[in-house]
Amino acid sequence: MEAYWKELALGSGLALVIALGIWGVDITPIAVIAGLAVLLQMMLSGRFAGSRKLEALALDARNPVKSMVTFDDIGGQDMAKRELLEALEFVNNREKCLKLGIRPLKGILLVGPPGTGKTLLAKAAASYTDSAFVATSGSSFVEMYAGVGAQRIRKVFSMGRQAAREQGKGSAIIFIDEIEVIGGKRGRHSSHLEYDQTLNQLLVEMDGINATNDVRVLVVGATNRADLLDPALIRPGRFDRVVRVDLPNKEGRLHILRIHARNKPLEAEVDLGKIAGETFGFSGAHLESLMNEAAIHALRHRRSQIKEEDLREALEKVMLGEKLDRRPLEEERQRIAYHETGHALVSELIRNGSVSSLTVVPRGQALGYMRQTPDGDRYLYSKQQLLDQIAIALGGAIMEELFFGSRSTGSKGDFDQAVEAAHQIIYGGMSSLGVVSKQHILPEEVNKEVQAIIGEEEKRVRELVSSHQTMAKAIAEELLREEKLSGVRFRELLMAS
Ligand code: ATP
Repeated sequence: MEAYWKELALGSGLALVIALGIWGVDITPIAVIAGLAVLLQMMLSGRFAGSRKLEALALDARNPVKSMVTFDDIGGQDMAKRELLEALEFVNNREKCLKLGIRPLKGILLVGPPGTGKTLLAKAAASYTDSAFVATSGSSFVEMYAGVGAQRIRKVFSMGRQAAREQGKGSAIIFIDEIEVIGGKRGRHSSHLEYDQTLNQLLVEMDGINATNDVRVLVVGATNRADLLDPALIRPGRFDRVVRVDLPNKEGRLHILRIHARNKPLEAEVDLGKIAGETFGFSGAHLESLMNEAAIHALRHRRSQIKEEDLREALEKVMLGEKLDRRPLEEERQRIAYHETGHALVSELIRNGSVSSLTVVPRGQALGYMRQTPDGDRYLYSKQQLLDQIAIALGGAIMEELFFGSRSTGSKGDFDQAVEAAHQIIYGGMSSLGVVSKQHILPEEVNKEVQAIIGEEEKRVRELVSSHQTMAKAIAEELLREEKLSGVRFRELLMAS
């Protein structure tokens, strides 16, 4: 209704101005005043839109029902949970801590990659300490107008205290996600004055936390770029505790999968442990999405329970993206089938049982792919393991060469991976160049060594693939017919031929 009146007023005003123009009245002053009014309106709405966004976010998060996440809802992260719980004793047993002369904790910084559960941990901290919870993000404070960020910081702190009073709680947790946006090193930004003022205000509010006695405030910041933070923010007395929230290990992944399977009917045969083993590098958010996609897949196939097959489909979707409708030309499909068989063959010959599946159905950026079962969570690689990675990456191009007489652009990503692994060998001091300095070594020298390493592996792969040509052909042809082969079927074909 409001919009209707606005439009009516705007239309009538415009008609009046045009009529005045036609009657020969000088409309320049009216046009200037109208222009200025519109500009002012835009600035004000921009300015307040951000503030409304901040308020809506905080109000939303103030809903006590929504913040009823407990530490039991968070999988893995045992270390982070332990450290956080220890820190929260300062909130729960404040008197005891004060008697011992312990300075009250003002801030906890959660550092880790996206989707690992930092927001969940902050919410669980709020329910554990029975605190009001106000969530916001660093970017909500950023505005081009000087002083707005600082004003919003003050507002968030007062919102936290007010929310605690309204909910009859003695403490409030203020969660600031992406804290590096406002907590970056001062003097780095081009509009540095505004950023600096915002950060200064945050520091002032944190310093003043002790003075307010009726509501205890604890600031929980989250970032994945702790290196960008201003040292003043992480000095003792401000963010006293830095808690690392890393990607989960295999046990952690299993725990997270189980948490997200609680409300989903799984078939008795489903082995979540196997899925956990195949999802190295997945965050909690990826695993939640995997379980959700598996349920959607089961629904699409009119099943009342989630099968292993639904989970495998979901895994590939989360890893590589949605299946594409685009169907490559027949001759391209043939090349893709031989290419993927090449990767799989080399992988299996190097490590028995390593192929999980291969397909020629395009998904995300890939026209086809071969997925391996990781051999455990790995954080270190030996030279031989890196050489094996290079060999597997080259398997596709060498197979194309052997069967079609040439390579194709489909191998570009594989070569990038091979070069990356060769760089790891060189900079890890494992090449014939010995230990080298990245800054002082000439690019030509590095390139020569990369070519030598990859050249050697090309020879090895060519020999491997040539001596298994008949079985490679049989596998590629079945892959072409079936579109997808499981690791088990692939190994059956390998044994049979
Ligand atoms: P960002 O840095 O991107 O803000 P974050 O670390 O704060 O991410 P959350 O928002 O806490 O991540 O997690 C997103 C979602 O992923 C959660 O709502 C939850 O469903 C799932 N999730 C993430 N980590 C875990 C975990 N450790 N246990 C259970 N679920 C998790």
